[in-house]
Amino acid sequence: MKTINCFCGASFEEDIKDKIDTDKDPIQISRILDGSFMSFTCPKCGKTLRPEFPLILYGNNIDLEFIPEIDRNRFLTGRKKTTSMQVVIGMGELKEKFLIRKYNYDDRIIELIKLYLLKKADNDLDITIMFSGKESSRIIFHIYGLKEGEMGISKLPESIYNNIENNLEDKLKDPGIAEFLSLPYRSVNTISTEVL
Ligand SMILES: [Zn+2]
Repeated sequence: MKTINCFCGASFEEDIKDKIDTDKDPIQISRILDGSFMSFTCPKCGKTLRPEFPLILYGNNIDLEFIPEIDRNRFLTGRKKTTSMQVVIGMGELKEKFLIRKYNYDDRIIELIKLYLLKKADNDLDITIMFSGKESSRIIFHIYGLKEGEMGISKLPESIYNNIENNLEDKLKDPGIAEFLSLPYRSVNTISTEVL
């Protein structure tokens, strides 16, 4: 059990696991995708709370550590280590990673497309780009930070994905690209996040 503290002053206990076997408990993947994972309602004021707790997910082809957003800089500066094959930081990245799996995409290619979108955007902005699904053979990305409080949407033809897929082995010969796509933290956010 873990204690959750609400802004209203109430605190309550929830049964929050620190390890999930995604083969035995696949419902948790559905909950990650629909946003109900690690989402709780305060019994006193009714507010929805989304606290982030450290978590290991394992199963068929899954060996993933979820690191709470609050620990992002600790991980990026090497003060926090992982023993998992791959890490994601923050709930948005956790959801994105399972969404990529749902569409049977390769996360290396998705991150390369995000890198391309990031380079096209204004360097001075603190931009976050998230894969968010597919609509009639167009790959959808949500872009945060272009304008205060607004979300941009980029819809790219799937042919861009297929072209990168066809040239992936060549691209990986570039040490910079190989480093960018290396594990455990394979994310364009390593570039767009300023480490403090
Ligand atoms: Zn409350």
